[in-house]
Amino acid sequence: SSSSLIVSFGEMLIDFVPTVSGVSLAEAPGFLKAPGGAPANVAIAVARLGGKAAFVGKLGDDEFGHMLAGILKENGVSADGINFDQGARTALAFVTLRADGEREFMFYRNPSADMLLRPDELNLELIRSAKVFHYGSISLIVEPCRSAHLEAMKAAKEAGALLSYDPNLRLPLWPSPEEAREQIMSIWDKAEVIKVSDVELEFLTGSDKIDDESALSLWHPNLKLLLVTLGEHGCRYYTKSFRGAVDAFHVNTVDTTGAGDAFVGALLGKLVDDQSVLEDEPRLREILKFANACGAITTTKKGAIPALPTESEALNLLKG
Ligand code: ADP
Repeated sequence: SSSSLIVSFGEMLIDFVPTVSGVSLAEAPGFLKAPGGAPANVAIAVARLGGKAAFVGKLGDDEFGHMLAGILKENGVSADGINFDQGARTALAFVTLRADGEREFMFYRNPSADMLLRPDELNLELIRSAKVFHYGSISLIVEPCRSAHLEAMKAAKEAGALLSYDPNLRLPLWPSPEEAREQIMSIWDKAEVIKVSDVELEFLTGSDKIDDESALSLWHPNLKLLLVTLGEHGCRYYTKSFRGAVDAFHVNTVDTTGAGDAFVGALLGKLVDDQSVLEDEPRLREILKFANACGAITTTKKGAIPALPTESEALNLLKG
């Protein structure tokens, strides 16, 4: 029913990935087009697992924008919250893993369509029908997208949605680390569910310690569930009344892109129908095990969207 809708707000873009790995961007002989953007990945993760999802954001009215909208629809995600900008183009990212193991990013965003979403363009009817509103746009810093972001959060909250946040830190996109921290923290205390990676935890606390104390230093009174994902080490969880860790699954990892988004999509797909698990540790642990399985499967295939699991794939891994 429409009461189980998860709305994911943010950007969708195309990652250009070199056809040969271990070379710099300048040396790449060619690129594969991989659709991505964390909020869009989350919406598709939800839908592929059988849930109801909508994506809210702006694309360019160009070949890439229409290709991305088509990918959402093919995957069963509602495109009713998508706007097409008549002037600016769809965002592009060039991402490569160099021989020295460092990730190199280059973005086409000057400005791209996603950054130009205006508050008056939002499909508020769709946003107000969300039971879970997930956000984590990398365009938080720029207007008018920032105002649209805040407006969408407010509308969802007023209509009773559970708010979920993943900061999706991509430092090269921010003018400075200080500004990134400030902007992330400006929307931090609105979220009732927050998922950070170990890297984001270090960045936000300014300490290289990953432990309960550093995680809980980020706690705020509205928070119901804080998650720290640790890649092959699984995740840690914190609520008002309990905390703990859930181990990851051992799989043959080839590309970790999208693992965190699969994890979030799996979790939200369960929370949308029953928030009482937030007060029930054994049941929450079961859900986090499922979310870990979904993250693990996503690492076994190249790319984010093509690698997101179906429910039966996840259940197979859980059965062992
Ligand atoms: P992000 O993609 O946001 O950095 P993580 O890499 O921590 O997030 O991945 C999210 C979840 O996916 C982890 O908590 C874990 O359960 C699973 N996962 C990620 N990498 C691996 C891996 N190499 N092996 C098994 N599971 C993984």
